[in-house]
Amino acid sequence: MTVHDTYDVVIVGGGNAAFCAALSAAESAKKVLVLERAPEEVAGGNSRFTAGLMRVAYRGVEDLKRAMPDLSTDEVARSDFGTYTEEQFLDDMGRVTEYRCDPDLTEVLVKQSLSTVEWMRKKGIRFTAAWGRQAFNIGGKFKFWGGLAVEAVGGGPGLVEGLTNAAKKNGIEIWYQSRALGLMLEDFSVKGVKVRKNNKTLEVRAKAVVLAAGGFQADPEWRTRYLGPGWELAKVRGTRFNTGDGIRMALEAGAAAAGNWSGCHAVAWERNAPEFGDLAVGDQFQKHSYPWGIYINAEGRRFVDEGADFRNYTYAKYGRVILQQPGQFAWQIFDAKVKAQLRDEYKIKQVTKRVGHTLEELCSKLEDTDQAQALREIQDYNLAVHTEVPFNPNVKDGRCTRNLKVNKSNWANTIDTPPFEAYAVTCGITFSFGGLKINTDAQVISTDGEPIPGLYAAGELVGGIFWFNYPGGSGLTNGAVFGRIAGASAARGHGS
Ligand SMILES: Cc1cc2nc3c(=O)[nH]c(=O)nc-3n(C[C@H](O)[C@H](O)[C@H](O)COP(=O)(O)OP(=O)(O)OC[C@H]3O[C@@H](n4cnc5c(N)ncnc54)[C@H](O)[C@@H]3O)c2cc1C
Repeated sequence: MTVHDTYDVVIVGGGNAAFCAALSAAESAKKVLVLERAPEEVAGGNSRFTAGLMRVAYRGVEDLKRAMPDLSTDEVARSDFGTYTEEQFLDDMGRVTEYRCDPDLTEVLVKQSLSTVEWMRKKGIRFTAAWGRQAFNIGGKFKFWGGLAVEAVGGGPGLVEGLTNAAKKNGIEIWYQSRALGLMLEDFSVKGVKVRKNNKTLEVRAKAVVLAAGGFQADPEWRTRYLGPGWELAKVRGTRFNTGDGIRMALEAGAAAAGNWSGCHAVAWERNAPEFGDLAVGDQFQKHSYPWGIYINAEGRRFVDEGADFRNYTYAKYGRVILQQPGQFAWQIFDAKVKAQLRDEYKIKQVTKRVGHTLEELCSKLEDTDQAQALREIQDYNLAVHTEVPFNPNVKDGRCTRNLKVNKSNWANTIDTPPFEAYAVTCGITFSFGGLKINTDAQVISTDGEPIPGLYAAGELVGGIFWFNYPGGSGLTNGAVFGRIAGASAARGHGS
């Protein structure tokens, strides 16, 4: 056992929340250390797998320019950003979490979303408008929808690279392949971290520790224990390193559990994707264009309202619905009318895709599926579409089906124009929702209801913010906002 120098702040984790905490701590603390469990080549946690989309509240383009000062006059002229006010962000958080989101933490998340992204920009992270993913081109003008206008240049890899460079520039030490094993406590105060590095156990002393080590989604045993039976069968969309370590060590130190422990963010994901994420593919195994088509399960039946809401507000809860289907998979079915609207992720080579020139031919290629029932289901669906309502992807168009067991509420296109396409998907888990209880200073709260001196937390491993569902792009904003707060609180020794 080697005992190391005392650091002012030690951060456990090497993703977005961790680096925001480190950069913030370094504004007033001298010795800041980031412990990243992963080797450098695959470091950066789930943050590196993202598209870098960040949800921020803005009243118009002038607000957005605070995060994206490089927006040119021409780009502004070609874009209709609309607004996404704090009230809208708060409403979205309330609605999708069924009003369970912690009101104090949610208010901080929303109110500091723009200023935090602006702060990141000042640290050297570059952002651009999400024209490719979050805007429809209407008559030459890009109309943004769904509250997501900002993305990091270079997506998740660009974000992690930018944060890492900024950390190095600010004198922050980074140790890769350094797994935190547990917290060192003296009289209930956190005094450091036990670390496994090069197969040696080290004791790293610290005045304060920030936990930003992600959720428990990469551990099949924890998934099954907390999310429920069947969750060991889900694929992990991102890093293999988020196995609940940060949560476990805090609970062992007396922290309170908070939030939706049986809930998680999970999406439609390529059926034959590997067990964990692949950085070369990133988020492209996801299949998010289901609002323009229909789902069919192994019994040949539809099972969910594909058009209940904009994709941003349904995609994170539909992975669970797919996991519950026989064989834990489903087909997404489209016709040629919507082919141009399918997102880029449908064009990668690692897709399980079937094509037919008739519906009969398509259905005959759906393996592991009741093909006769699938054909009947598509035909019944076609007959039930309210065709007099025009299709409009920019609004909830009300083009729905009638009198089906499972109706589709919007964007109900008939599936009648060949060639027809089917894509096989399963459930890909993104992150677990349950975690540690924190206050608005990002101090970890004990089971006695008091802050644990010297312990702070941010990002995926915090519970209480997301329940049941999640508004797209909130994960990075959440990590950044509370990472920044945690770093500042830890550096000033708040609560110790
Ligand atoms: C494919 C995919 C796409 C996504 N797209 C988006 C998006 O566009 N926008 C968005 O907002 N969110 C997105 N998300 C969600 C987003 O990734 C997370 O909400 C966010 O990155 C969490 O940040 P974090 O810093 O808390 O965790 P992470 O970035 O996962 O970082 C956790 C870190 O802790 C490290 N670690 C774990 N255990 C230990 C230990 N014992 N010791 C030391 N280090 C440890 C890990 O190696 C990792 O570096 C996406 C997620 C995935 C998987």
